[in-house]
Amino acid sequence: MKYDTKILHGAIDRDPWTGALSIPVYPASTYHQKNVDERQAYVYSRSENPTRRALEETLAALEGGRRGYAFASGVAAITAALTAVLESGDHVVVTRDLYGGTYRLFTEYLSRFGITHTFADTSDPDEVERAVNPRTRALFLESPSNPILKIIDFEAIVALARARGLVTMLDNTFLSPYFFRPLELGVDMSIHSATKFLGGHSDLVAGAVIAATREMGRKVLSVQMTTGAVLSPENSWLLMRGIKTLRARMTIQAQGAMKIAGWLAAQPWVERVYYPGLAAHPGHDIITRQASGYGAVVSFVADSVSRAYAIMKGVRIWTVAVSLGGVESILSYPAKMSHSGIPLAERQALGITDSLLRLSVGLEDADDLMEDLEQAARM
Ligand SMILES: *Cc1c(COP(=O)(O)O)cnc(C)c1O
Repeated sequence: MKYDTKILHGAIDRDPWTGALSIPVYPASTYHQKNVDERQAYVYSRSENPTRRALEETLAALEGGRRGYAFASGVAAITAALTAVLESGDHVVVTRDLYGGTYRLFTEYLSRFGITHTFADTSDPDEVERAVNPRTRALFLESPSNPILKIIDFEAIVALARARGLVTMLDNTFLSPYFFRPLELGVDMSIHSATKFLGGHSDLVAGAVIAATREMGRKVLSVQMTTGAVLSPENSWLLMRGIKTLRARMTIQAQGAMKIAGWLAAQPWVERVYYPGLAAHPGHDIITRQASGYGAVVSFVADSVSRAYAIMKGVRIWTVAVSLGGVESILSYPAKMSHSGIPLAERQALGITDSLLRLSVGLEDADDLMEDLEQAARM
């Protein structure tokens, strides 16, 4: 089965009970046990639920993993993946410019349980190597990174991790499994904020962890069951519905992003564009080799802070908001939104300046989106 067919038919594609093309929502919390001495598939919905199960098998198929698990949010998924493998005293090397919530998780939460970390520019394997110490147990990666869109060379990073016996985890939210399947390159766990491209309609909050092996999957399952941040049957259904159009959305949204990124690079009010699809991007050759697309997120630096504010104030089609990955285009301001929790000096060093804007390109006509940015920038 080719990948585009697998999105629709790679797992449970019909209700086994009725043949319905849409897997029903099973709101049941508990299930009749015919014989208490026999194991049965469904006992209690924190542990297993038929709607969530159908979604989880779809997620595993999409990523080419052995097991998939659905969580109540992306950060719940990240927390489960990390706590599935880490213990007090362990150290993690973490991508430096990463999602603000993950930054908080490492700096304010996991640190309380004796888990330490070092931030590194993970697009540079030598810097990762230098950040590894005898207590290092895992690499937590983001690529393209957020919001500067740096690209990791997974062949180099996986080789390094294997040589050192490190577990590799990637937050694959930005490319989605449609464009990038890290488990095929030897990464141990792929993680998503399914709130973004997998859901695709800005109408739910969800997370996913897909494990390469059964053994790793069991560890994630144990955390899911023990800490209980499971996705509801209703949202599992909604997420499956969103995933059905993943191919159509990702293809068109990435085309729009490519067009807009190229156009932005030629505008006098734009100082710099970050988009890995552009040949000038330092990670362009690597992502072209390792992924099948460049995604629909574009960041750019306006020529002044007042220009950045003018754009945010003046846009009519773009929605100024946090989040990304929906069918409607979103314009966000990392310095005051997703990355406001990162101390100023650190933020500036990362390139998250007060003139940086991040775009999530939706399904609108790209010409309309460009015209809208242009009229706002010129006000
Ligand atoms: C949004 C996001 C998250 C957090 O996901 P939630 O669903 O909001 O909990 C994690 N990583 C990345 C890259 C994100 O964009």
